Amino acid sequence: MENKRVTRRDFLARIGALGLVGLGGSALLSACGGQQQQPAHQGMSGATAEFSCTDVSGLTPEEIQMRESLQYTDRSPEPGKYCHNCQLYVPAPGPNQCGGCQLIKGPIHPDGYCTSWVQKVS
Ligand code: SF4
Repeated sequence: MENKRVTRRDFLARIGALGLVGLGGSALLSACGGQQQQPAHQGMSGATAEFSCTDVSGLTPEEIQMRESLQYTDRSPEPGKYCHNCQLYVPAPGPNQCGGCQLIKGPIHPDGYCTSWVQKVS
């Protein structure tokens, strides 16, 4: 009989603990930003994050030559013309990350530009 009371108490304590763990887990996920969504690109707002997409260490000499001949740059010198609004841009997997390009190899900055820029068609 005594064991049943202890067992019930133990059971209730465990249920309570599970509830607290559940709440704690939710709070922890929120604190980690698990449900926060940020825009993939913030450059147009003037709040461009400082990161670079110029690492060409994994590219062949020909691929590097292609980037250079098309004058790729991380910061577009042409107002309104950016990789992020180019038809050939491959969006970055997340905010503040480099994307790609269908034409040239290597990391591509959303605010970048090259001489093959083509207006993105929605
Ligand atoms: S073609 Fe040029 S402007 Fe367009 S995404 Fe590629 S690198 Fe950027």
